[in-house]
Formats: sequence, C-alpha cells, structure tokens
Amino acid sequence: MARVIAVANQKGGVGKTTTAVNLGACLASLGKRVLLIDIDPQGNTTSGIGINKADVRYDIYDVIINEVNAVEAILPTEVPNLNILPATIQLAGAEIELVPTMSREVRLRQALQPIKSQYDYMLIDCPPSLGLLTVNSLTASDSVLIPIQCEYYALEGLSQLLNTIRMVQKHLNTHLEIEGVLLTMLDARTNLGLQVIEEVKKYFREKVYTTVIPRNVRLGEAPSHGQSIIQYDPRSRGAEVYLELAKEVVGA
Ligand code: ADP
Ligand code: MG
Repeated sequence: MARVIAVANQKGGVGKTTTAVNLGACLASLGKRVLLIDIDPQGNTTSGIGINKADVRYDIYDVIINEVNAVEAILPTEVPNLNILPATIQLAGAEIELVPTMSREVRLRQALQPIKSQYDYMLIDCPPSLGLLTVNSLTASDSVLIPIQCEYYALEGLSQLLNTIRMVQKHLNTHLEIEGVLLTMLDARTNLGLQVIEEVKKYFREKVYTTVIPRNVRLGEAPSHGQSIIQYDPRSRGAEVYLELAKEVVGA
C-alpha cells in the first residue's frame, strides 16, 4: 500500500513543487513505484516533470469534480517508476465548485483508494493556500511534509498550517501525522540561514530532516527543461541532496 505524503505549506515559493518533483524522482530511482499528484492549479509539477499540458486528456480536476477514474488521468513520465496525475488551469475553478458538493473534503481520498496498492509512495504537491484542495490532500494523506524556506520570516504563518492539520486530524483523518520538516534554499554564505535552522529545530525537534536543501542554480533551472534534477544534472549538489532526502524518507 502506498504511503501518501502531502507536500504542504500555504506560503508560495518555499520549495513545495521542487521537493515533490525531485523527491519523487529520487524515490523512483531507488526502485520505489511513485505517483506524483499535482493539485495546484498552476500545474508546475506537471510541466516540471515534462508533461505538455496540451497533451493532458484528463487531469486531477476531472478526477475530483467529474469523477473520472484516476487510472484514466495518470500519465507516465520519462523517469522509470514515476507516474503523474497532472493538473491544468481548469483546476482553478475547483476550490469554489467543491464548496456546495457532497463529501467535498474526501473526494481525493476516495479517488486514490483503488490505486493505492499499485504504488509505494504518492506525493501530493499542494497549492499555496489552506483551502479545500489542501484539505482534500491532507484528508487523503498518511502524513504531511512541510518545506520551510531558510529566510527571516520562516515560521510566520506556520501556526495556521498546523491548525489546519489539527482540524483535519480531528474531523477528517485521525491518523494524519507530520512526516517531516524540510529546510530549503539555504544560502550557506549567510548566518541568517543557520539561525533559522536553529529556530525551526527548537520548534519541530526530531521532525526536522537531517538533509537540508541548499540554494542550487541547477535546481532552479531543471523545471524549464521539464526535467527532475536527476535527469537534468545528476552530478549537481541539488541531485545529491534530494537523493539523500529520499534515503532519509525511505529509512523513516
Ligand atoms: P512552491 O511550490 O512552494 O511555490 P517552488 O518549488 O516552485 O516553490 O520554488 C520556488 C522557486 O524557487 C522556483 O523557481 C524554483 O525553481 C526555485 N527553487 C526551489 N528550490 C530551490 C533551490 N534549492 N535552489 C534554487 N532554486 C530553487
Ligand atoms: Mg508549487
């Protein structure tokens, strides 16, 4: 049965998509069967792993709103063992369309249930909000991986995310846990990053991954080539650290 992990933080630009794509590709390179699930209307995971949105017949919107079978929407990627359930801009309407629908918080969980046995990991790339798409993701997940950018306001807004997680635990998904907290985009040239690491560790303790993701130019470039870092530049520091993270996730 797949372990379903939501990559969530309502702040934009903290490394959610970069982590979903590259952790997914690295887990796949370790021989795990991985499904990436893009539930952000921006569809950056979809394009970042090389899917041309014009070629997408069914996307996650069709799965959660129109009840299209997830199997029909899933596409292979160029990375062996790595599939994707894509998102396109039509998902932008879902947040509002879900409001009056039946079982609106559990749509994604219901859609994934029949295919969980086909994967070892499912990674859900959440949008930068705490709306119904993120709630669907948390409800469908075993755990949540929280990327935190090593910057001055790193912890700001986290209490809202933690409140949402608690709300989901209480009402929708009692076994949801925190998978881990990932520090991202560390700039080794400044002391600020190191201060942020200390602060985050005080708060989340052993939940913080040993692996810290540095700023790495190659990680920033890879999406525009539609490739994960292990395809784009397997010798880069970015590839090394995401592989390290994948090993940590598998070991946990
Ligand atoms: P989110 O999904 O949380 O909005 P992204 O993963 O899209 O964040 O990252 C925001 C931007 O920063 C993107 O342009 C991405 O390519 C870039 N980026 C993310 N992580 C790194 C990193 N470790 N080093 C350099 N650039 C990064
Ligand atoms: Mg994103």
